[in-house]
Amino acid sequence: MFIPTVPTPDEILDKSFRRAKKAADKVRTSKVPRYQMAKKTEEARIKTACQVTKDTLNNLLDKTPQVEQMHMFYQDYIDVMVGVDDLKKSLGALNWAVGIVSKIENEYVFKVRRSKSENAANVRRAAFGRIASVMRQIKEELDFLDFVKGKLRNMPTIDFEAFTLVIAGFPNVGKSTLLRQITPAEPKVANYPFTTHGIQIGHFEKRWKKYQIIDTPGLLDRPIRDMNNIELRAMVALEHLADVILYIFDASETSGYPLDAQMRLYEEIKHVFDTPIISVFNKMDLVENNKYLDEYISKLNEPLMISASEGSGVDLIIEELEEFNGGKKGNKD
Ligand code: GDP
Repeated sequence: MFIPTVPTPDEILDKSFRRAKKAADKVRTSKVPRYQMAKKTEEARIKTACQVTKDTLNNLLDKTPQVEQMHMFYQDYIDVMVGVDDLKKSLGALNWAVGIVSKIENEYVFKVRRSKSENAANVRRAAFGRIASVMRQIKEELDFLDFVKGKLRNMPTIDFEAFTLVIAGFPNVGKSTLLRQITPAEPKVANYPFTTHGIQIGHFEKRWKKYQIIDTPGLLDRPIRDMNNIELRAMVALEHLADVILYIFDASETSGYPLDAQMRLYEEIKHVFDTPIISVFNKMDLVENNKYLDEYISKLNEPLMISASEGSGVDLIIEELEEFNGGKKGNKD
C-alpha cells in the first residue's frame, strides 16, 4: 500500500506560514490603496496559510488508499499489522482538522475585514495560533500514519486473477524446494506478520492460465493450537487467497517430524481452512515403500508421491492443479 510521505505538524506549519508570507508580499507589490494595505495583506496571509494546510492534509487523505475498498486479504493484513480501526481513526482526525481549518479561515477573514488596520496583524496572529493548535492536536495521528507507512512497506503483491496455491507442512519437509521447482523465476519475498522469513510468492503459467504459489515459513508449519490470536488471524487472511492448499508430508521423516505429528497438523489445517487440500508425500527418493508409510498414505485421498529436489512428480501436482482450475473449483475473489 502506498502512503505518501507524512509531514510533521511543524513541517505543515512551516510550509503554510512561509507560503502565506509570500502571498502577503505579492499583495504589497500590487495596486492596493494604502489605507487597505494592512488588512488586505493579513487577509491574504490567513487565506493562504489555511489553504496550504488544508491542501497538505487533503493530499495525504486522497493518496492513502481506502481500506474498505481493498481485497479482504489486504484488509486482514492491514488489521493485523497496524489495526484498521486505528488507521480509520487517524484519517478521521485529519478530516476533522481540515474542517476546523476551514472554519478558522472563514472566521478570521471575516474578523480581519471588520478590524481596524492597526489590529489586522493581531487578528492574523490569532488565526495562526489557532491553526498551530489544531496541528498539535493531530500530532499523534500524523505520527501513527508515519508508523503505518513504515509497517506497510513491502506488503505482498498478490495477483488476484491467478489461481492460488498455498503451501503448508512442517519445516524442512521441502516446501521451498518445491516452490522453486515449480516456478521458473526466483520467488518474490514480502513482509508477512509473524513470519520472520516473510512470505514467498512464485508465479507460473500453464496453458495460458496464471498460477501463484505462496509459501509462508513460520505460519502453516506448526500446530495451530500453539498459535496466538494474531497469528491465527494472519493465517486466516491466507484463506481469502487460497484456491487450493498443498500439504507436504516428509515421507522420509528426515526433517525430524514423525509422520504421526505431520498427520495431526494436516488434520488441523483441514479443519481450519474451508479450502480443498492436495496432499503430497515428498522425499520419496529417500524411502523404500514400506508398510508404515502405506498406513498413512491409505488415510488420504490419493496423495501424490514426489521428490521435490529431484523434480520427480512435480508434473503430477501441476496436472492436479489444472484439474482444479479447469472447472472443479473456480477462483475465489
Ligand atoms: P522447507 O523448510 O519445507 O521449505 O524445506 P526445504 O525446501 O528448505 O527443504 C529442506 C531440506 O530437505 C533441504 O536440505 C532440501 O534439499 C531437502 N529436500 C527437499 N526435498 C527433497 C527431496 O525430495 N528429497 C531429498 N532427498 N531431499 C529433499
